[in-house]
Amino acid sequence: MANGDVLVNAEEKAKKIKMILMDVDGTLTNGTLHVLQNGEEVKSYHVRDGLGIILAHLVGFETGIITGKSSKALEQRAKRLRMSELHQGVLHKKKIFLEIRDRHKLKSEEIAYIGDDLGDLDVIKSAGFSGAVADAHLLIQQNADYVCNQKGGFGAVREFIEFIFNAQNKWDEIKEKVKNLK
Ligand SMILES: [Mg+2]
Repeated sequence: MANGDVLVNAEEKAKKIKMILMDVDGTLTNGTLHVLQNGEEVKSYHVRDGLGIILAHLVGFETGIITGKSSKALEQRAKRLRMSELHQGVLHKKKIFLEIRDRHKLKSEEIAYIGDDLGDLDVIKSAGFSGAVADAHLLIQQNADYVCNQKGGFGAVREFIEFIFNAQNKWDEIKEKVKNLK
């Protein structure tokens, strides 16, 4: 397919999305772990991704995280952003994806997922609309519906969410909701 056709196809898929799920390391972060002497790991998140998640909630999307690692800081961030699903220490991401799908009574085609590495591959293949960060593993890029221009930890999740906003013509509603925020 020509590049333009790929994007039209991605847009059609993005139109059906109701829930947006994501990986953390290498996707919401740039993959770098600062390991402190006590063994605690410190990572950085991008504020633009955080705002994208908040805007998504404002216009009715649900969001969630499926990650192989575990941290208290992530728990706090997910709570602060009011994400509805947080699954840490996950070995088989597809199993959790299917469990979330069934519990929310959604179809696979109504769930989007963005990731960066091989642990995400099964979910990338199952999700209705899938994204790869710009620096994702090649197999992830090849199997995703949309490859972001931004790298993990540098606004790729925001870009992915905005692709869905664009496909669903959400901008007027977003502007209205933001205006009415108190
Ligand atoms: Mg990752």
